[in-house]
This record gives sequence, C-alpha cells and structure tokens, in this order.
Amino acid sequence: MSTTAETNVDIEMERKRLSVPDRSGFPQPRRRVLEMPEYHPPLANRSMLRLDFNENTFSPSPKVMERLRQTTAESLTIYPEREHVEHAVAAHFDLEGDQVLLTNGVDEAIHLLCAAFLEDGDEALISTPTFFMYDVSINMMTSKLKRVQADASLEFPFERFRAEITPKTKLIMVASPNNPTGAVVSRAHLLDLCEAAPNAVVFVDEAYFHFHGETTMGDVGRVRNLIVGRTFSKAYGLANLRIGMLAGDAKVLGYVRKVSSPYNVNGVALDVLPAALEDRDYLDWYIAQVRAGRDRLMQALDQMGVRYWPSHANFVLFEIGPRHKELVSRMRDKGVLLRDRSTDPGCDGYVRMTIGIPDHVNRGIEALRTTLEEMQWTR
Ligand code: PMP
Repeated sequence: MSTTAETNVDIEMERKRLSVPDRSGFPQPRRRVLEMPEYHPPLANRSMLRLDFNENTFSPSPKVMERLRQTTAESLTIYPEREHVEHAVAAHFDLEGDQVLLTNGVDEAIHLLCAAFLEDGDEALISTPTFFMYDVSINMMTSKLKRVQADASLEFPFERFRAEITPKTKLIMVASPNNPTGAVVSRAHLLDLCEAAPNAVVFVDEAYFHFHGETTMGDVGRVRNLIVGRTFSKAYGLANLRIGMLAGDAKVLGYVRKVSSPYNVNGVALDVLPAALEDRDYLDWYIAQVRAGRDRLMQALDQMGVRYWPSHANFVLFEIGPRHKELVSRMRDKGVLLRDRSTDPGCDGYVRMTIGIPDHVNRGIEALRTTLEEMQWTR
C-alpha cells in the first residue's frame, strides 16, 4: 500500500495527465507555468570581485553619471516615455523608429518574444549549452522546445541545428557570441537560418556583440523574420538600470510591442541611454580593455595547463573537472566570484570567469593561480 504522500503525488500526476482542473480551492496557474523550469542565479553576497555575471566590472560612461546627477525629484514622479528614446536609438543604428523596441533588459525581450509568437504545440529551437532564459521563457508558452546539443568543441552545431527546422518551427533563439561558451555563429549562417525557417522569428541575441564585432543589425528590416537583441548591461555597464533592445521589421516587432507594457523601461534608464550611446570613446576604451584582458586570461590558462574554449565575449569558460565546486568556493574565500557552469548541458566541471578592467583581470588570474597551486590541481 502506498503512503498518503505518494498517493497525493499520483493524484497530482494523473490530474496533470488528464488536464483535469484543480477544484481544491487554491488558484492554479496555466499548465505550462507548472511545467516550466525556474531560473535562480546565485545572487547572494556579491560584495567582492564579481567575475561571475559577465557585467562591466568598472563603470558606465562618465557622461551617464553626469546625466544621472541631473535626475530631479519631480522626474521620478512621472511615468516614463519610451518612444522618443526609441527614435534616438533607431537613428543611432540607422533604423526607423518603429524598428526598435526598448525593453527591461534582454531578459524581458526574450519573455515578450515568446509571449508574442508561441502557443502550446509550436516548436522552438535553441542550441545548448546557452543562456538559460531561452529555456524558461519558451517553456512558459510551449512544451515543444527542441534543444540541439553542441559537441565537445562547444561550437554552434549549424548543420544539425538547421536539420531540426520544420514548418512548425515558430521561434529560433541563437546567442552570438554565446553564453557560457563564448562561441560565435557567422552572419552567413544566421541568414541561412532565417531563410530556412520563413515561418519562424529568428532571434539573434547580440548581448556580447561589442567584444566580437560581427553583427546582423545591418540586415534588420530587409530580412523580415530577423530580430536582433542588444543589451546595455554588458559593455555599457548599465545592468542595474535594466535596459535592452530589440530591432526588427516594424510589423513583426509590432506584435512584440503589443504585448509589452507601455512603461516597461524606467525613466532613469531612458534618460541616460542617449548619453551612453553618444560616448563612443568610453565604449571603445572599455571594449579594448576587455579584449586585451581576454588574451591575457587565455594565455594564463595555457600556462596553468587549464583547458578553455576560445572566447569572443567578455568571459572565458574553462575546465576544472570534478573539483569545480572546491575551486569556486576557494576563490570566493579569496574575494573573487566565479560562475560554476557545471549544471549546463555538456559542461560538467566547467567554470566561467568574467573579464573586466586590467586590475580585475590581474586579480582574477592571480587568485586562480594560487588557488590551483593550493589545491595541487592537475588536469
Ligand atoms: N542574453 C545573453 C546571452 C546573456 O548572457 C544575458 C545576461 N546574462 C542576457 C541576454 C540578459 O541581459 P539583460 O541584462 O539585458 O537582461
């Protein structure tokens, strides 16, 4: 005979299977909400060297700080207006105003894309390992998420990915550069996917574009099912203000605009964004620091005998093996936060380090070197 607890689980599973509404007097969410995974990034106690979330490790442009200081009490009482800033951003990218949607970070953009284009039964396609929010937001809408796993090289598995496209594919999400691998997908391959999946929106997530350089932004509008995402959380250093953008064909993007709240982006972020975009010198300076730091980190990993995946982003993924938890914990004891990526598919034993300004890279490399020595780590 089964215990009460087991019986309850059985009943719950049966209810789900038969899709019987729960009349127990407690509000039930949609079935997809019950079944979607949750994302809980390890956010507690981050007051040390933060090489764990791929943020800018230093500061936004001084022009942004200047603009912030002009924030008045009255301005905080007013609902934010997004449209005129969207027009300014569009002009910056040589686009029309209605080809840009500003969002509460790219996280929200991902959510809105799924809400606008997916219904249960629609197929969506991602390659893993990748940014986990794709999995969360897609699963919120449909159970038909197809994940194409990269091989040990962690390169984008283009041929196998393309072969998974069907007439039912409604949404494709690809990050280039990808997180956590640092791998890229060429513009030619991305355009090929757009052509191969005319019924789908192809979302190209360029969150880490600045540390790489190749973009599909110039194809927006001409390729009608292409939507490009950019964040201001990384190179621009505005993660705390939560601002990102989508660029796409006006009509296609219009559906996403329709499901977004009119006040999704706060007015402080909207106020500073033009200043951030205008200060090209600051952006170029920060990007150059990261690119040089990335070379130094990869060289240091070579010297330490640690295997890594060549990165085009502001982080490097490397292989520690079974002692990954110990490494991350010892580094934390030294005041340096890293991100353990072991639970990502195909990433068991892999750890990721963010690259920032030279001093932060040096401290990260030195802490890693001493920690591996203390652990008497060998490959
Ligand atoms: N896309 C990718 C690939 C990311 O790695 C991240 C941040 N970790 C995001 C989007 C989300 O960025 P935002 O801060 O704009 O929500």
